[in-house]
Amino acid sequence: MTLKTFGLAAATALLAFATPAHAKLSSQEAKMVEAVDKGHDRWIGVLEAITRQNSGSRNLAGVKKVGDMVTPELEKLGFKVEWVDQSAAKRSGHLIATRTGRPGSTKMLLIGHLDTVFEPDSPFQGVKRLNETTLEGPGIEDNKGGVVTMFAALEAMQAAGTLSAATITVVLTGDEEDAGDPIDVARADLVKWGQWADVALDFEGLSQIDGKDMGAIARRSSNSWQINATGKEGHSQGIFSTSAGHGAIYELVRIIDRFHKELPEDKLTFNVGLIAGGSVAQLDADLVRAQVAGKTNIIPALAVARGDFRTLSDEQSERIKAKMQAIVAQHLPGTSAEIVFEQGYPPMAPTEGNRGLLRRLNLINADLGLEQMAELDPLKRGAGDISFVARYVDGLVGMGPAGDGAHAPGETVDLPSIKRQAKRAAILMTRLSMEKR
Ligand SMILES: [Zn+2]
Repeated sequence: MTLKTFGLAAATALLAFATPAHAKLSSQEAKMVEAVDKGHDRWIGVLEAITRQNSGSRNLAGVKKVGDMVTPELEKLGFKVEWVDQSAAKRSGHLIATRTGRPGSTKMLLIGHLDTVFEPDSPFQGVKRLNETTLEGPGIEDNKGGVVTMFAALEAMQAAGTLSAATITVVLTGDEEDAGDPIDVARADLVKWGQWADVALDFEGLSQIDGKDMGAIARRSSNSWQINATGKEGHSQGIFSTSAGHGAIYELVRIIDRFHKELPEDKLTFNVGLIAGGSVAQLDADLVRAQVAGKTNIIPALAVARGDFRTLSDEQSERIKAKMQAIVAQHLPGTSAEIVFEQGYPPMAPTEGNRGLLRRLNLINADLGLEQMAELDPLKRGAGDISFVARYVDGLVGMGPAGDGAHAPGETVDLPSIKRQAKRAAILMTRLSMEKR
């Protein structure tokens, strides 16, 4: 060993010894980490302001107002912002923001939403600080905290000079919690940008198990079904006879009982949420209430049930539908029944591409000195907007902050997780934008 190489080795050893926390981050990445810390208080202010503005999905003006409030933030980041009116789907609209970076760089779609489940008549309004690290408010984690996390990441990229190379479209829907109808109209823009993108990042809440951040790469579908059963109305003394048959209620109960016995399989859940039967069984226009009438001595003519089922892939959905239809078709004597399906959210399957994104995120975790994020069981994650684009792109779910009690009064957000998630997202988007596609 010459003196010179010894010197180099010693210097390297010394450097390794003095390793700072963010050793493997590039100087730009270290700058993004700093920028997220620096911008944090201002973003919390923005979060409080947009949370104070009610934006229940049916509060069309309120949803638009939140869109208007965040528009200047995106314009400052060099995005062209557009409001896409959704009156055709009986909802407020979507905010779509675009910016183009280096030609050929990864096209990224960032997904979030402006609406919340809390309409103006909900008693849960405003923002409360519970302690140093926790804010309470309607939608403060789901999804206003997610929107702010997304913006904080983009701002950090701008501060480090990496945003200009990135090609990004932001879609903030105005009806995630209560999607517009028809759904094809309500999700047309999201699907269009999903087809355009290479990667989709969903800024819904971060899943945690035992306090550990989890990586989410799948979401189950959500489908509704309705069974309408009919029988011959008549005097109860004749029931089960060839002429009178078994009645609509026994037919419906047969079907539901066989679902319960024969459908169960991995990653599938199915629920019966409403049931009604009698001489009269009439659902209301919202399909959540029923008017019923019947007598003990009358064979019922009508029975209706509504429920859902959730799956992890299109293949599983189709197979389950076929099984349900086959069960429905084996009618009891003197009865009939049909099942009608309504697709809500398609599934986001746990693909290899999605796993690849989680691997990249875990490299970033290592470089940031954070724990590795294990893959979350999809049973723990409901359907969401990213599901509509999952079949076109690689995607990651849960890039937003952690919190508690989403969809219920008392919802909270964990403020430090906004920083942590913004840092991860800024570095991930920067690294993705440098990859060739
Ligand atoms: Zn949400």
